[in-house]
Amino acid sequence: MTKKFYMPTRVFMGYECIAKNCEAFKTLGKKALIVTGASSAKKNGSEHDVKAALDSVGISYLVFDKVMSNPTIACVYEGAKVAKENDVDFIIAIGGGSPMDAGKAIALLAAQDIDAANLFSGNYENKVLPMAFVPTTAGTGSEVTQYSILTNDEKQTKTSIASDLLFPALAFLDAKYMEYLSISTTINTALDALSHAVEGMLSVKASSVSNALAVKSIQLIMACVPDLLSVLNSKSKTGLELSVREQMLHASFMAGMVIAQTGTTAVHAMGYSLTYFKDIDHGRANGLLLGEYLRIVEREQPELADRILKALSLSSVNDFREITDKLLGEKEDISTDEIQQFSKMAIQTKNIANCIVKPTEDDLKEIFILSFLM
Ligand code: NAP
Ligand code: FE
Repeated sequence: MTKKFYMPTRVFMGYECIAKNCEAFKTLGKKALIVTGASSAKKNGSEHDVKAALDSVGISYLVFDKVMSNPTIACVYEGAKVAKENDVDFIIAIGGGSPMDAGKAIALLAAQDIDAANLFSGNYENKVLPMAFVPTTAGTGSEVTQYSILTNDEKQTKTSIASDLLFPALAFLDAKYMEYLSISTTINTALDALSHAVEGMLSVKASSVSNALAVKSIQLIMACVPDLLSVLNSKSKTGLELSVREQMLHASFMAGMVIAQTGTTAVHAMGYSLTYFKDIDHGRANGLLLGEYLRIVEREQPELADRILKALSLSSVNDFREITDKLLGEKEDISTDEIQQFSKMAIQTKNIANCIVKPTEDDLKEIFILSFLM
C-alpha cells in the first residue's frame, strides 16, 4: 500500500499570532464571514482579536454565531445562505471543532450548490471559499484536517464530509484563548487529540511520518496529565498554566495532521453513537473507549500495543485505564440493548476497515461492556 502526506495549511503559532500576522488575511479576500459558536469566542477575546486584525487591514466582515456543539446539516445550510447573500470572499471559523467543522461545510456550500442528499457524497466541483481557522479548544485538530463532521439525523450518527477542498488556507494557534476553558472540556478535548494520535498509529494508512507526529503528540499530552489531574482535584478547578495549554494545542495540531493522513479507527466509530444517542461529548466518548480498544490490539498484535504503550510512557493497558478513569470520573449508564445497537452500527463503518487490528462485532460489544460496566 502506498502512503501519502498532505497538509496545505499555513499555520501561525504563538502569543498574539493573529495581530502579528494580520496581513495574511488579505490573501483570502476583502470580505469575511466569521463563523463561531454562541458565546465563547466573544468571552475569550478571539473574536475581538480577529475583528481588530481585519479592521487593521481593511477587510469587512459579518458574524454568523449560531453554531451549536455537534453542528447540524440545517445549521451549515443556514450559514451558507448568509455567506451567499452577503457575497463574502472567505470564511473565518473561531472556536472548537464544532464552529471549525461548520465553517468548512459553509465554505463548500457557499461556493457550489450541493443538495442535502449529496452532501456526504464526495462528489463536488473544485470550488470552495478559502478559510482561516482559530481553534479555541485543543482537541479536534480540525484546523489542519479535510473533515467536516456533522450530525446526520437520517443515519442517526455523525458523518464526515471528507475532501481536500476543506483544508483551511490559514490557521492561528494562540493558547491564550483557552485560559477560561473549563477543566472538563479541556480534558475531553485532550482525550480527543490523544485518541487521534493513538488511532493514527492503529490505522492501515499509518506511515513513518504520521507515526513520528503521533508519538510526539502522545508524549506532549501525557506530560500534561499530572497538571490536568491536579486542576481537576483542586477546589477552584482553574489554573492551568499557559505553557501547558500551548503544549496541548500543539499536540492537538500534530494529532490533526496525523488523522488527515490516516483517518480514525474503531474508537471514533463507536464514539459517534455515544454522542448521537447519549449526548456524551465527542472527546469524552473516545476517552472512555480507547483503553479497551487498546486491550483488543494487545491481544491480537502485542508488538503494536507495546509501541503505543511506549509512546504513552506506560507499562500496561491497565495503567492507561487508570488514568482515563481518573480523568473522566463517574461514567454514564449504558444498557445491554444500547450496546447491541451501537456495536451493530459501528461494525458497518469504514473506520473498521481502516483498523490494522479489525475488531469483530463481539469485540466491539466487549469494548463497550468493559469501558462502561467495569
Ligand atoms: P465544541 O463543540 O466546538 O465546543 C464545546 C464547548 O466549548 C462549547 O460550549 C463552546 O462554546 C466551548 N468553548 C470553545 N472554546 C472555548 C474557550 N476557549 N473557552 C471557553 N469555552 C469554549 O467542542 P470540540 O470538542 O472542540 O469539538 C467537537 C466537534 O468537533 C464534534 O462535532 C466532533 O465531531 C468534531 N471533530 C472534528 C474533527 C475534524 O477533524 N474535523 C476531529 C475530531 C472531532 P461556544 O459554543 O459558545 O463556542
Ligand atoms: Fe475526534
